Amino acid sequence: MQNNKNAIQDPVLKDSDEEFKRLVEYDRKYLWHPFTQMKDYIQEEPLIITKGEGVYLIDLTGKKYLDGVSSLWVNIHGHRRPEIDQAIIEQLNKIAHTTLLGLANEPAALLAKRLVEITPKGLDRVFYSDTGATAVEIALKIAYQYWFQKEDNDNAANTKDTPRYRRTKFVYLENGYHGDTIGAVSVGGIPLFHEIYKPLLFDSFKAPSPYCYRCSLGLEKDSCNMACVEELGKIVENHRNELVGVILEPLVQGAGGMIVAPEGYLKRAREICTKNNILLIADEVATGFGRTGKMFACEHENVSPDLMAVAKGISGGYLPLAATLASEQIYDAFLAEYQKKRTFYHGHTYTGNPLACAAALANLDIFEKDQTIIKMQEKIKFLNEQLTKFNDLKHVGEVRQKGFLIGIELVKDKRTKEPYPWEQRTGGKVIMTARDRGLVIRPLGDVIVVNPPLCSTIEELGKMVEIIKESIIMITE
Ligand code: PMP
Repeated sequence: MQNNKNAIQDPVLKDSDEEFKRLVEYDRKYLWHPFTQMKDYIQEEPLIITKGEGVYLIDLTGKKYLDGVSSLWVNIHGHRRPEIDQAIIEQLNKIAHTTLLGLANEPAALLAKRLVEITPKGLDRVFYSDTGATAVEIALKIAYQYWFQKEDNDNAANTKDTPRYRRTKFVYLENGYHGDTIGAVSVGGIPLFHEIYKPLLFDSFKAPSPYCYRCSLGLEKDSCNMACVEELGKIVENHRNELVGVILEPLVQGAGGMIVAPEGYLKRAREICTKNNILLIADEVATGFGRTGKMFACEHENVSPDLMAVAKGISGGYLPLAATLASEQIYDAFLAEYQKKRTFYHGHTYTGNPLACAAALANLDIFEKDQTIIKMQEKIKFLNEQLTKFNDLKHVGEVRQKGFLIGIELVKDKRTKEPYPWEQRTGGKVIMTARDRGLVIRPLGDVIVVNPPLCSTIEELGKMVEIIKESIIMITE
């Protein structure tokens, strides 16, 4: 794609080459892959990626694949984007890492200002960390501690009866996903991932998912819309005195199966939180940085959360970086005489890493220079037109799309919506077929997920959609 003198000219290997065999052996023998049944994995030949170029991934043998999931929902402007490469190199020439515990650094300060400027109104403070899960953990802890300190009355007796001890619970959504650390799992709503850890988790209240295709309240698609949000309202009202806040993924429940909430859901959830005086925590880890067709999903409904977690696309998909944004009101509750112990005692070693922040600044510059969000709009329309045709396929139950976040739900019986037996791994078979045809995607059960880099051209998007269609037909018909 570009002429970078630092580019490594990889030798293209054949699978019979010794070097190829050595890497395969080490991968099988020493690595433990995430979200992967290793017993199966080691039976298959691993796909070893050595390079990237624009929206393509290139493996050891030189074969090119379209990166249909943006390397797990992170890549925005393509791989090896010269401006981001250069920003990292320039920062590397100054310093790779220095701590934010007690010290400041240039890119972290510059980026904090930019983040406050581009996120919804009222989010005025940035607390850095390194992954989506940590950004969520931080939001949960800040939210809890906020009430603890806000309701702290210096004259009140420090007993279990004072209001500060009351607010210990969160409301989360069924099918919600916020990461894999214990706090994030405590507010996770996907039984396959979360159920086993139950004895380790803190108690929370579960509200129904806005999953109209399979309404958990048993209602028809059209009538279920606002029933789930009204149910959320009831749960909040019944427990308002013990609640810290509601945590949700605005507009799209990503890992739950790209479940798109009905229009107005988020706005109503905001109203419910405001009315009941509890916090709204928006997890924009997957939806942030343009994925839904606006910079942040909250913008679609003009909602400002009290706390917001961002990660994934923040660095353009280059380096691990995350941030939790908080309102000034929340931040203020942590300011006090040192002896009052209102400090937020939380911090990760690589918090505010200068290389990652430099990449993030370059990422935001490209958003402006390329007019990424504006240019996405016609691509979103194109995808929508192409995806509508999937509804004719015999085993496609529902196609869901919000911007570049797409989920295609496969079902055994379209009429009854009966799913395939999950052990059959129909979704897994589809993605392996797509891989053979030059597209890397990942399923969520039997939901085929497509989440291309925002820079993908209409032609590249068309190619992705075509491969997915062929693969679905091949496996299901
Ligand atoms: N929140 C949401 C909405 C996510 O989709 C994810 C990851 N897919 C996370 C949190 C966790 O992010 P990470 O994997 O970076 O910890």
